[in-house]
Amino acid sequence: MHTAKRVNQLPPYLFLALDQLVQKKRAEGHDIINLGIGDPDMPSAPAAVGALKRTVEDAITHRYPESLGSRRFRQAVADRYRDRFNVHLDRDSQVVALIGSKEGLAHLTWAYAEPGDLVLVPDPAYPVYAAQAEFAGATVYRLPLTQENHFLPNLAALDPAILSQAKLLWVNYPNNPTGAVAPRAFYEEAVSICRQYDILLCSDLAYADIGFEGYRPESVLSIPGADEVAIEFYSLSKSFNMTGWRVAAAVGRRSAVHALGQVKSHLDSGPFTVVQEAAVAVLQEDPDSFIRGLNTIYEKRRNLAVREIRAMGLLGEIPQSTFYLWFRTPSGMSSGQAASFFIEKADVALTPGSAYGAQGEGWLRLSLTVPFVTLDDALARMRQALLRHD
Ligand SMILES: *Cc1c(COP(=O)(O)O)cnc(C)c1O
Repeated sequence: MHTAKRVNQLPPYLFLALDQLVQKKRAEGHDIINLGIGDPDMPSAPAAVGALKRTVEDAITHRYPESLGSRRFRQAVADRYRDRFNVHLDRDSQVVALIGSKEGLAHLTWAYAEPGDLVLVPDPAYPVYAAQAEFAGATVYRLPLTQENHFLPNLAALDPAILSQAKLLWVNYPNNPTGAVAPRAFYEEAVSICRQYDILLCSDLAYADIGFEGYRPESVLSIPGADEVAIEFYSLSKSFNMTGWRVAAAVGRRSAVHALGQVKSHLDSGPFTVVQEAAVAVLQEDPDSFIRGLNTIYEKRRNLAVREIRAMGLLGEIPQSTFYLWFRTPSGMSSGQAASFFIEKADVALTPGSAYGAQGEGWLRLSLTVPFVTLDDALARMRQALLRHD
């Protein structure tokens, strides 16, 4: 029996393919250091584990959860937005719980995109935005992010005919894979253009709390009037080392939160109540002190990687946020060739930039989610492999 065309047309999920290559090399006896995957290496915030232990024995938590999120969860997210971003959200109409933001990004697309619509997606970008738009039968229109434009799409240069056909605009700052951050002026421009052309502005704030040298990411919802045009995805995954727990929220524009909730009500029953309680605990028990500790560790790793990649002559920009370093391939190598070179000659796995879109060609992404000594070892191996190569 044939699978549906939409499945046949999908590219292999990038991280799955990378993981399989790493497994294969390891099975052959190679000691591979994997800097390819953006998954925090450190334990989850202790408040989450404590809350899980306290609540999991209570059988009431074993039943179907309230599918749009418990009142306590939605209130905790609203309180977090108030304290962290000075953004005021109505718990009941502006917050919906998600089984991780990846789930939410996907289902939001299904709530809006249909054949004939354009979905504006940055290039390079997290692969889910484009894959889901194509799944839903819409057309993806790519917005190039380049070092020259500080990895921000040039919205002012977009053809009004394109903007008129667009249904969704995806923005993701702090940005995966480039590590770029958005100045307030960019959000102001995006809000104004989306209002003018009736486009839903979709902000993926997965790295909401990661920042170096005092930098703190902003929410697009802090722009006056943004909650009439924007929906934002706030995840506990990266902020609190909770990628495995699958919990996040979509917040902002009421009609979009409602539409996403409608799609979800036909698909899932919300995050496990115990996990929602864990999220409440994390958001209420001094989240910023946990985040300060996390940022101190990532900043040390970032500084090391920046120094070494610069010494190799490959540095692009110094990231102020995320746990990625986006850097140039060694001269003459494509992204794919460079990723193969480093895995074959240095036993270091990196992500080829081209996997995030055509504009990522000529770039590599390195993830800072390994201990300092491991990172140091990986960078030394990369440097030696390059010396042998020259
Ligand atoms: C990690 C990541 C996500 C996924 O977050 P979950 O809440 O764990 O699903 C979404 N967007 C970007 C850009 C990411 O890097």
